[in-house]
Amino acid sequence: MLDLPPSLLWPLAAFIGLCLGSFLNVVIVRLPVMLMLGWRTEAREALELPTEEQVRFNLATPRSMCPTCETAIAWHDNLPVVGWLKRRGRCASCGTRISPQYPLVELAGGALTLSVVAIFGPSWQGLFVLGACLSLLVMAVIDLRTQLLPDLLPLPLLWAGLLYQLLFQPLLLPSAVIGAMAGYLVLWSFYWAFKLTTGKEGMGYGDFKLLAALGAWMGWQALPLMLILSAGIGAIIGILVQLAIRRLRGAPMPFGPYLALAGWVALLGGEPLMAVYGRFFLL
Ligand SMILES: [Zn+2]
Repeated sequence: MLDLPPSLLWPLAAFIGLCLGSFLNVVIVRLPVMLMLGWRTEAREALELPTEEQVRFNLATPRSMCPTCETAIAWHDNLPVVGWLKRRGRCASCGTRISPQYPLVELAGGALTLSVVAIFGPSWQGLFVLGACLSLLVMAVIDLRTQLLPDLLPLPLLWAGLLYQLLFQPLLLPSAVIGAMAGYLVLWSFYWAFKLTTGKEGMGYGDFKLLAALGAWMGWQALPLMLILSAGIGAIIGILVQLAIRRLRGAPMPFGPYLALAGWVALLGGEPLMAVYGRFFLL
């Protein structure tokens, strides 16, 4: 798609990745609020309550501001990572701490973009994979913040996965369709087995849809790998977090971030990873 010298390609990819991360922060913070406002309006309509005046709130309005003192953030404080470091993680006017989520998501955007360019080159296929990686990032952080995985995110990722197979590896389309169905069904079965035996809900429907999407991107063959990775990493981090942070003890842990992590590993680990995994688990 692009033919750039490496001296231009890498800095450009890093810069674009950081800026994408910066935009994803806006999506991560605002999308759940936009959805809540929408649900609220629908609920009031269904209950035939008078409609409320709502302020305009979307990805572009209002401008980025400090949540405490509502001072608009100047463009030079809003630069990816640099802005946060310059202010040492505090608001320029009132000094309120600003979450390290902002620089971390920006750095993750940069790292994912560089990894995709390293593996797929600046190609159309790479662009699709980058979209998938970034959408996983948004889902992971929204799930961490709100314990929600709104349909708006995993379902388009699923359709995009099928389109990706159709365009780039049509021979794998059947295994992608089976992967999407099996991904949903596996977690759905775990969910009901867990609920019927313990009476508790172990995960949400969003998790089923997310694994269905990953099945579409990677084919059913990768599902056991992704389940082993996400459950394994999830168990280790879950135990460490609950030991370290007392107030989280016994609190439900979101599963989406671990699925996203497994998704990145499988998407970017690609063939070498599948070869090793095939040797251990399939043969
Ligand atoms: Zn402030």
